[in-house]
Amino acid sequence: MLFKQRKKVAKFGGSSLADAAQFRKCVSIINADQARRYVVPSAPGKRFAGDTKVTDLLISCCSLSGGGDWQPVWNEVKARYNGIINELGLTLSLEDEYAVIERALSEGAGYDYVASRGEYLCGIVLAACLGFDFVDAAEIVRFDSEGRFDPHTTNALMSSRLAKSYRAVIPGFYGAMPDGTVKVFTRGGSDITGALVSRAVMADVYENWTDVSGFLMCDPHIVDSPRPIKTITYRELRELAYMGAGVLHEEAVIPVKLAGIPINIKNTNRPEDSGTMIVIDSDDLPCDELITGIAGKKDFAVIRIEKDLMNTEVGFGMKVLKVFSDRGICFEHLPSGIDTMCVIISRRDIVGRESEILSEITRTVSPDNIDIETGVSLIAVVGRGMKSAKGTASRIFTVLAKSDINIRMIDQGSSELNIIIGVNDEDFEKAIRAIYGEFGAL
Ligand code: ASP
Repeated sequence: MLFKQRKKVAKFGGSSLADAAQFRKCVSIINADQARRYVVPSAPGKRFAGDTKVTDLLISCCSLSGGGDWQPVWNEVKARYNGIINELGLTLSLEDEYAVIERALSEGAGYDYVASRGEYLCGIVLAACLGFDFVDAAEIVRFDSEGRFDPHTTNALMSSRLAKSYRAVIPGFYGAMPDGTVKVFTRGGSDITGALVSRAVMADVYENWTDVSGFLMCDPHIVDSPRPIKTITYRELRELAYMGAGVLHEEAVIPVKLAGIPINIKNTNRPEDSGTMIVIDSDDLPCDELITGIAGKKDFAVIRIEKDLMNTEVGFGMKVLKVFSDRGICFEHLPSGIDTMCVIISRRDIVGRESEILSEITRTVSPDNIDIETGVSLIAVVGRGMKSAKGTASRIFTVLAKSDINIRMIDQGSSELNIIIGVNDEDFEKAIRAIYGEFGAL
């Protein structure tokens, strides 16, 4: 019988590689499972509160290289790597690499190249610790000549190059344009590299190692020690991330989701914790919980429009929305009733333009009434378990009523995956605590 060999991609965030002790943890995690064949490191992060990430040190070097004295900050960067190398007892010298970077700094190298060197050097050190091949991301992550990420060329380059290395370390965060000029993703972009590598090697799982044991059901700044989420679907994650919950770079989700590869968020400091599994939605996916997570954002504005027989007026909604699109404003939600329609937008997007927007809507659709309310928070209660359960909405409304919270808006997504509730900004935290108390607390 033939067994398919399992393949895992392990991406380690900056806190997992902040110093030699953290490096040791990563090395033992990788060595504990032969399937962990491809490793994507970030640059060393903060070792303690108030410390500076290597990437931020490099960015300071870059801004100082235009006339300031970058050498002291650069010395700090070198000291971080030399400290790790010495403490780990590696026979590795980065002096040649440092010389190249120093020359570039003295010639005024740009942001992308300098910022990327944190991951580059970290990858070399980690590959030496593990005895894995080092594959420079500049060879296999491609941006076009305008600096736009090129997923197809990247996938082709990556899969053919990585097929030649049974085990490899690929630094996160950067790639290169066709002429070799280094280009970085946005901050936190090593998550994206990890996802790209996972897709290119068709990994069984993309492990994203960080300093938390997965996603929590809600914001721990609001609820004391909320429960971790064991399993979440990509769609649920998108709903929660949209409403402000975030541990993972949003763009990192797309390549693995398309390839049907699950992501496992794991804690380098507690590798025994199962963490959170992010999986593709399927009918046979077990669902023990009614609610997967609760997230929300403050400071929305609700524009309420009333007009008798609105529903019979062809193009009414389109004309209203055109007022926003003409001004480059995105709407967040669109709850509607018979003869009423609400447009919910982030207040920041319309500051100073409120009366102009209201008069333009009045001019185009002649409503009977139009008003605007601000200070509204939106809370999304997300859970694939809600689809098959009755009474979830009533439990939410009851617990909010008992907590003396006025609900200003309700919107149930057509997917039945979420219920969105609008409350006053002052009630935001209290409402999240009440909903968590009803569904999340054990
Ligand atoms: N080192 C980069 C940053 O600090 C990229 C990453 O960590 O993913 O943003």
